[in-house]
Amino acid sequence: MKILVARIPEEGSNYEGDEPGAILHAEEEQFLRNPGDVHYKLYAQRVSEELVIRGELNVDVELQCARCAEFFSTRVGVSDFLRACPAPEGTDSVDITEDLREEILLHVPGFPVCSEACKGVCAQCGTDLNKSSCACEKDEGPSAWSALDELNL
Ligand SMILES: [Zn+2]
Ligand SMILES: [Zn+2]
Repeated sequence: MKILVARIPEEGSNYEGDEPGAILHAEEEQFLRNPGDVHYKLYAQRVSEELVIRGELNVDVELQCARCAEFFSTRVGVSDFLRACPAPEGTDSVDITEDLREEILLHVPGFPVCSEACKGVCAQCGTDLNKSSCACEKDEGPSAWSALDELNL
């Protein structure tokens, strides 16, 4: 996304629209796929030798659940986008495509789950416990934690 600096009036300009999801380079990310358009609502203003851009971004994506490894649809939002790009006298335009990408990837949750109720996969046989159950012996016996509890008399 290029912002044409010369056209921005002194009081600043508002921008609202969509950039193609391809700017996220999802193919390089392991846990993210099928991004929709990146919707932006930005305000840009020239402040001395810089162009200050602030606003909001959001994009619909599929993330890989950290528990069951299935992809699920969700929205990644950025409510506090803020960049100051150098824009000395004579600057035609400022390209913030890479800034949009970086900021969205920073806001992808580190431990996404498809649902709070996701049961994940069995640590022993790998069965997706959301879809079926397995016959593995569940370790419900005394654990290290309950042994600690007993010490704590
Ligand atoms: Zn899940
Ligand atoms: Zn199992």
